[in-house]
Amino acid sequence: MTKATGERKMRIIVQKFGGTSVATSKARARVTEWVVKAKREGYSPVVVVSAMGRSGDPYATDTLINLAKEAYHDTRPRELDLLASCGEIISSVVVTNTLRAAGLDAIVMTGGQAGIITNSNFGNAEIIRVDPSPVLRHLNEGKVVVVAGFQGVTEDGDVTTLGRGGSDTTAAALGVALNADVIEIYTDVDGIKTADPRLVPDARTINTITYEEILQMANEGAKVIHPKAVEIAMMRNIPLRIKCTFSEAPGTLITYTFEGPPKWPAVPGNRTVTGITHMPNVAQIKVYTPLKAHGADRNQEEETQKSLRKRGETDLLMFKKLAEAGISLDMISFTPEVKMFIIQESLVDGALAIISEFGLEARVTKGCSKVSVVGSGMRGVPGVMANVVEALERAGVPIIQTSDSHLTISCLVSKEHTEKAVRALHDQFGLAHV
Ligand code: ASP
Ligand code: MG
Repeated sequence: MTKATGERKMRIIVQKFGGTSVATSKARARVTEWVVKAKREGYSPVVVVSAMGRSGDPYATDTLINLAKEAYHDTRPRELDLLASCGEIISSVVVTNTLRAAGLDAIVMTGGQAGIITNSNFGNAEIIRVDPSPVLRHLNEGKVVVVAGFQGVTEDGDVTTLGRGGSDTTAAALGVALNADVIEIYTDVDGIKTADPRLVPDARTINTITYEEILQMANEGAKVIHPKAVEIAMMRNIPLRIKCTFSEAPGTLITYTFEGPPKWPAVPGNRTVTGITHMPNVAQIKVYTPLKAHGADRNQEEETQKSLRKRGETDLLMFKKLAEAGISLDMISFTPEVKMFIIQESLVDGALAIISEFGLEARVTKGCSKVSVVGSGMRGVPGVMANVVEALERAGVPIIQTSDSHLTISCLVSKEHTEKAVRALHDQFGLAHV
């Protein structure tokens, strides 16, 4: 958009740097290069930073949380958030000074100062709105704005944090509020891979992926970006780019599927499968819910109806109880006689206690992994399931259970077959050479 004066519209870029990208002065020198590059390309950069380093490093989030708990293990979430938010504040000041030392006019802001308003769900606060004006004011003066990630402030002025990995969320929320051209997420890997490279040595970096696909992959076990950040960016079709701070590789562009102005190239239309993910340490639970033995013939119909109703009520109560205990279920499959689902292995004892409270019998298969084939291109394409079955069959991997959505097929396999399964599927769909 051009103003009456002929002034060009500001092109804003949000550049988020993760913990390892800001941990050392050498890494921060790379950060400076990326910011300088963005400026040179005519962007107005907003830099969002995570706390420096990883657990054990002096100013890392885990270290700060442990420090609070060491003094009093029953620390209230409000106090914990105030301390946890300091990791990003420390990092943001250090990065600002690094940029200034390189001759850039940079200014630092906390999340609250940058207009990020949240609810008061300490530890996992939701952003309720972002006032872009404080950041815009500085950008208009030609400054680079450095924002402490992972935090916001309530209407009452309490400092909150946005949940672990929440600096990505800060970047996305600012990107949307400022209508940025792109949100760049800098990390220590060069993008999203077709499979976990520790399992599949010839896994490739995916060049372009849709919001939907990355959300699905993140939910199915792929790390790299916080799904909430993707959801936020997706609301306004703002492209995200995941890049490695330490390499020149182009990384992965996350973009829209269709709709919206073609600011960026859409993903290739001829791709059926985009990546393979795996989620280890899950357990399958089968809860048996047989009908009571029937009474005399004459009353059979009535009895059946009664037990059906009773069974429905019991099921409902049991699932409510599981939910109240914070046990989230996945790969859910119902028949009248068996309710089947998977949960995290660490939650098995808790779940079994609840199930037995209802006098129901359950069979547990521990030591499973959920392996998923993800791709928005599989929508309506016949034969994907046949390919999945063929690959696993040939690799000698028995399938314990399956589930699917319009862009995934997931198979539950036993732990020792995880690597074989992921590799076989990666090969079957030719993901090493796309
Ligand atoms: N430092 C925070 C965490 O470790 C937020 C982030 O890094 O994104 O979870
Ligand atoms: Mg992160």
